[in-house]
Amino acid sequence: MKSSLIFKTARENQLQQLEDTLLTWDVLVIGGGATGLGIALDAISRGYKTLLVEQSDFAKGTSSRSTKLIHGGVRYLAQGDVRLVREASIERGLLCRNAPHLVKNQPFIIPVYSIWDKYKYTIGLKLYDWIAGKLSLGSSVFISRQQTLEALPGIKQDGLLGGVRYQDGQFDDARLAINLAQTIIEKGGTALNYVRVRDLIKDQNKIKGAILQDVENDKLYEVNARAIINATGVFVDDILRMDNPSAQKTICVSQGIHVVLDKKFFPAQYALMIPKTSDGRVLFAVPWHNKLILGTTDTPVAEASLEPKAMEEEIDFILETAGEFLTVKPERKDILSIFAGLRPLAAPKKDSDTTKEISRSHKITTSPSGLFTMLGGKWTTFRKMGEDMMDHIEKYSGWKRRKSRSASIKIHGAAPSNGISDPLDYYGSDAAFIKQHMNGSSGQWISPALHIHKEQVRWAVEHEMARTLEDVLSRRTRALLLDAAESIRIAETVARYMAELLKKDELWILQQLEKYKNLASQYLYQNKQTGAVYELNKGLNAI
Ligand SMILES: Cc1cc2nc3c(=O)[nH]c(=O)nc-3n(C[C@H](O)[C@H](O)[C@H](O)COP(=O)(O)OP(=O)(O)OC[C@H]3O[C@@H](n4cnc5c(N)ncnc54)[C@H](O)[C@@H]3O)c2cc1C
Repeated sequence: MKSSLIFKTARENQLQQLEDTLLTWDVLVIGGGATGLGIALDAISRGYKTLLVEQSDFAKGTSSRSTKLIHGGVRYLAQGDVRLVREASIERGLLCRNAPHLVKNQPFIIPVYSIWDKYKYTIGLKLYDWIAGKLSLGSSVFISRQQTLEALPGIKQDGLLGGVRYQDGQFDDARLAINLAQTIIEKGGTALNYVRVRDLIKDQNKIKGAILQDVENDKLYEVNARAIINATGVFVDDILRMDNPSAQKTICVSQGIHVVLDKKFFPAQYALMIPKTSDGRVLFAVPWHNKLILGTTDTPVAEASLEPKAMEEEIDFILETAGEFLTVKPERKDILSIFAGLRPLAAPKKDSDTTKEISRSHKITTSPSGLFTMLGGKWTTFRKMGEDMMDHIEKYSGWKRRKSRSASIKIHGAAPSNGISDPLDYYGSDAAFIKQHMNGSSGQWISPALHIHKEQVRWAVEHEMARTLEDVLSRRTRALLLDAAESIRIAETVARYMAELLKKDELWILQQLEKYKNLASQYLYQNKQTGAVYELNKGLNAI
């Protein structure tokens, strides 16, 4: 089993590479979210000696908190950004081919309540198909009222004329991130979680390296690199200020939250897209891992944080808007989890309060010191962003041009999907190894409700660089996002098993549990007046 040998105690192997590399790296990527992983993937595809460091876990930031869509972007079409839709449609097609275990072809329906909307969306979605060309995931079509009601049994019936059905991609963001890190390593790169860039090293005002800190033991490393890339999402300005303390602000931060509900609120295989909410946004209701995700919002925020918190008004907005379209109105007590993410949007030229009009396309900048920075972007276009960055670096630095091969790299685990009824489908070819062990340890389901087996915990620790309880419960499995209270219920069992595998003591278990419970309580709906927490559908409980 090749992958098992490579990933046995993988982080130790990766740290060893850091210690052994006395010479200069070609490329140092700061940040292990979608952007950094896309850049490192492209760099390694061109044969560059590549190091990626992430201060927390892979995809701890925005990249585990998306709406889970690999999409051309119907909304961007409405904004007239045809170039972005075309680019995203191509990337969507490539990702369906290179990571079929993670990206599913998801049918969406836009319910239509007026003749004007019927023609607007039917023609608009035909244009969407046409822009994607051969990479379209299926033709859009207008469907009758009856067909719409059959497809979306929970939908509001009053005034319904029919719907427009179209196809887009849906994925597991954090699992794609970890599979990308694995791919980068398998192709000869080095990717490390829990390693932070503490400072930049310069020689005659030109950047030439960085001081790295292993967050687990505070050990420092000094590394040299020919190109250093700031791919830190909403934190890009922190790195730019490390380079130049008087650097101008380059990004705006916009928060988007999601509310997760039981699938009974929308028991359909289809996803619902509401193209224009009361304040002109788009709202999605998407089935995901047997639950329903509702989102998102677009709220400008002043501060960037790794754990942003949903605002009361955002939760109200989502429940009220969804309630207008679902026969059974969801209430606060129905919320299984709430998660918030921050969009790193390239700041517009003139100051503006509205972030929904700022382009989602990416932008590359180069500081006078030679520090490269990627601003903005989307998960869907992560690979193209990487290719663009490496093209830019080669041109700017006068390096001999090398061909990008990232478009044809199969992502770790790539295998045809068995369908969503298989709870391990998202593991792709790794599922067979996990199932082999599961057969020998039947009855070890840690969470039957979320289909989490003890062997998944072992797999996460031994093969997927999971270091903390949160890594396993939030990003290797998606328990925290799917059902925060259930994730708290299973936390101790998972922590004890992890401690056994990682050879940690009782104190580690207690610290992990305390940290995790504090974190997970933010994902539960909490009554701001009383401080009480709603647990599952049982009403108010103290957890
Ligand atoms: C609510 C919401 C919904 C979205 N939905 C979609 C969607 O459905 N489809 C889609 O295509 N896109 C979507 N997006 C956009 C997409 O999620 C983001 O564009 C993408 O995840 C940003 O990735 P990133 O790597 O730039 O940032 P991040 O994921 O935040 O990664 C940056 C990383 O840098 C690390 N870092 C910071 N400082 C340091 C340091 N000093 N040393 C080392 N590491 C450091 C951070 O810890 C962080 O992990 C959505 C965004 C939001 C907010």
